[in-house]
Amino acid sequence: MTTARALAAQVNAGASAAAAVEQSLARAQGDTLNAIIRVHADHARAQAASVDARVRAGERLPLAGVPLVIKDNLLLAGAESSACSRILAGFRSPYTATAVARLESAGAVVVATANMDEFAMGSSNETSCHGPVKHPKDPTRIPGGSSGGSAAAVAAGIAPLALGTDTGGSIRQPASLCGVVGMKPSYGRVSRYGAIAFGSSLDQIGPFAADVADAALALAVMAGHDGNDSTSAQRPVDSAELPADPLAALRGARIGYVAAHEAGLAEDVRARLELAKRRLVEAGATLVPVTLPHERYAVAVYYVIATGEAASNLARFDGVRYGHRAEGAKDLGEVYARSRVEGFGPEVQRRIMLGTYVLSTGYYDAYYKKAQQVRRRICDDFAGAFAACDAILGPVSPTTAFKAGEKLSDPLQMYLSDIFTIAANLAGVPAVSVPFGADRNGLPIGLQLQAPLWADGRMFALAAGIEALGR
Ligand code: GLN
Repeated sequence: MTTARALAAQVNAGASAAAAVEQSLARAQGDTLNAIIRVHADHARAQAASVDARVRAGERLPLAGVPLVIKDNLLLAGAESSACSRILAGFRSPYTATAVARLESAGAVVVATANMDEFAMGSSNETSCHGPVKHPKDPTRIPGGSSGGSAAAVAAGIAPLALGTDTGGSIRQPASLCGVVGMKPSYGRVSRYGAIAFGSSLDQIGPFAADVADAALALAVMAGHDGNDSTSAQRPVDSAELPADPLAALRGARIGYVAAHEAGLAEDVRARLELAKRRLVEAGATLVPVTLPHERYAVAVYYVIATGEAASNLARFDGVRYGHRAEGAKDLGEVYARSRVEGFGPEVQRRIMLGTYVLSTGYYDAYYKKAQQVRRRICDDFAGAFAACDAILGPVSPTTAFKAGEKLSDPLQMYLSDIFTIAANLAGVPAVSVPFGADRNGLPIGLQLQAPLWADGRMFALAAGIEALGR
């Protein structure tokens, strides 16, 4: 498929954005993976016409006419956004998320909304109220989650760019499983304004793309301070420019790896990781063994902090202000209780109950406070590791795409899918999944690069080198 960069160059040179968008709309309408839950044909045609007019008037737009798919937890003015939950069915947003608005001002065109796990809780895209998404290469398998629809949409060529959110791995894990690039920015790099909150201290919006350079371009366009999100950073944004020779960035780079990551990896995933390490050395990088001693607590810590924050964020969905309301309740208490029981699926209910428990009097110190203390240790581990290396290379997911239904009845197994991705959210550091070949069944394998806070740009340069080594 044409990259976003190439497409924008064509449109800036006079090719029609409208035509590019029609093609993407047709693919979205013909989606057979259940990756797309809503097509925004009218919006997309109007936006494409405005891009064509701006280009005719002499503007040059970094994403001119580039079709964009957004996850269902990102708001688009006038359109429905429901985080794939029954409780938000029919909710129409009065405003557009900052990240989406910035991409559209740069010429991108939202063509469709992608399926996702309900409220971004899941690793397989099987908890959506719209049903599961199929893996683009094997319909009996899952695409990963929670941004499974976004990853599958890019992998299937519906659009060159998609947005997801990543609270514990929800961009990187489906990117890895579907064979596309997916990036979680430094916490605070991209405004969360207009993203339906899950765990506010962990959530970041990030791009999916077919290659690293497109992801870097999308990030450069969306990043930067936003007065509507006080956690968005004031720091200047890195340029989207990557070195012309992708291997140049690797020469002399210090690439860390964690020996403990290799235990428990599927054989083919481990083999690709080893191959990447060998090729890095051949390319002139130095491999540096590092340790993240508290990383083994990351999943446990995450399921305390993320559920606590989710219980608090989801309290607003009460049947009164938004979305679904239970019929025939006797009093307000019953409206709340029944609307929430009817509106939230089982995984979301489980998270709300866990989160309410860990925040409750008598348990707060034992669970929530303790988890915050371990989180600090995990941050310190990264700081220690990054004193010795520029970035850490490792796996994204212990396995390639698993079978639909395989982990649905065993939440703990599902939670362990994110064992390698969660620490970056807890520490706030940027991380990216880069395609690096496939397993014996042809299922994609991604490798993860994690970098110091605010080193998003440098991380992309190194990731482009690894991408080149994986081809
Ligand atoms: N799979 C993890 C969870 O279920 C992470 C989800 C995410 O990053 N949104 O919470």
